Amino acid sequence: MALIVQKFGGTSVGTVERIEQVAEKVKKFREAGDDIVVVVSAMSGETNRLIDLAKQISDQPVPRELDVMVSTGEQVTIALLAMALIKRGVPAVSYTGNQVRILTDSAHNKARILQIDDQKLRTDLKAGRVVVVAGFQGVDEHGNITTLGRGGSDTTGVALAAALKADECQIYTDVDGVYTTDPRVVPRAQRLDKITFEEMLEMASLGSKVLQIRSVEFAGKYNVPLRVLHSFQEGPGTLITLDEEESMEQPIISGIAFNRDEAKLTIRGVPDTPGVAFKILGPISAANIEVDMIVQNVAHDNTTDFTFTVHRNDYQNALRILEQTAREIGAREAGGDIDIAKVSIVGVGMRSHAGVASRMFEALAKESINIQMISTSEIKVSVVIEEKYLELAVRALHTAFELDAPSPQGE
Ligand code: ADP
Ligand code: ASP
Ligand code: MG
Repeated sequence: MALIVQKFGGTSVGTVERIEQVAEKVKKFREAGDDIVVVVSAMSGETNRLIDLAKQISDQPVPRELDVMVSTGEQVTIALLAMALIKRGVPAVSYTGNQVRILTDSAHNKARILQIDDQKLRTDLKAGRVVVVAGFQGVDEHGNITTLGRGGSDTTGVALAAALKADECQIYTDVDGVYTTDPRVVPRAQRLDKITFEEMLEMASLGSKVLQIRSVEFAGKYNVPLRVLHSFQEGPGTLITLDEEESMEQPIISGIAFNRDEAKLTIRGVPDTPGVAFKILGPISAANIEVDMIVQNVAHDNTTDFTFTVHRNDYQNALRILEQTAREIGAREAGGDIDIAKVSIVGVGMRSHAGVASRMFEALAKESINIQMISTSEIKVSVVIEEKYLELAVRALHTAFELDAPSPQGE
């Protein structure tokens, strides 16, 4: 008998009919003898609807109150799913994050899970009940409701699996696994049977929203067997694994990720003196704004240009700070651009192959796509390009690295 944590995402619980379908599925597992903990998201569109409501009151809603509100989405689905299970004769009970006691820090809207009390869940499982837990939410030490950031139900699932030492954490969604890239953008993307934690972590942090980054971090840290599967279609899905298979056949890159959520800022004509990078980025980080890519140009005439990217939500704030810095340090000008996108190729196979970056640049050059910024690490190469070329770039790279399926889906 296995203990399985199953997480169902927003589209999978998007209607009452789908919730009934999920209940049927859970029932089958239960009848096969497995102990089941189910984590659900809010019905699709619900979290966005709630955020929009808050934004009608204020552009920047108070983070604590926003959490009180957005956490309600998941409270609806846990209750509906528990009802659907009970209707089918499957004993079930639902809990909010607070009721389980998923303890988090107090960073509202992006809280981290610190500890999970598994007592109640174990008692219920022992009594033969399916436990349905609200994803995306927790509670801080003062009793405030917190949420874990968009896509956070994945992390709830994995964290519960880690706490309960589950045999597997199954992430059910609207695609049948992790693909070489988003199958909505590249119809010839291919499902991967396996992907390493390391690669999945890069894919997630570079923009593949199929799994929230923290869920992959958690799974890697606590060695939780993690699988991505389709909610309503049979299939093996994609296993996220520890082992890197050594094989001649190993592809050089495993996947392509992209991200439209960043914006670029540039400060020009900066006096090139020691400490200049700190003078520019210090105030940005003091304002709690995370910086991603950074490029400092070679100095001419003792001045230099400095460019970096931040999340688009932080753009206006960052620009204001940068303009202030420009005045203080005597730079020529500060400016920015939000119409950019980041495209990344990811693969552990890069470690053993030279020339991967130049192959990427060649493919982009063939499409006349200008590269604005570049950053590399051992298993990824990222470029910033103009946003309007994003899809073209992803498709060109998918072809250049021989990731295309033999024929497009549906043909
Ligand atoms: P859920 O609501 O179930 O959490 P998400 O929308 O968060 O689902 O994640 C699933 C979506 O992730 C897919 O519909 C797909 O468009 C997108 N996606 C992005 N990159 C990939 C990828 N490499 N493989 C599979 N899906 C991807
Ligand atoms: N409902 C939350 C969101 O839309 C959490 C999740 O679905 O994982 O981001
Ligand atoms: Mg998701």
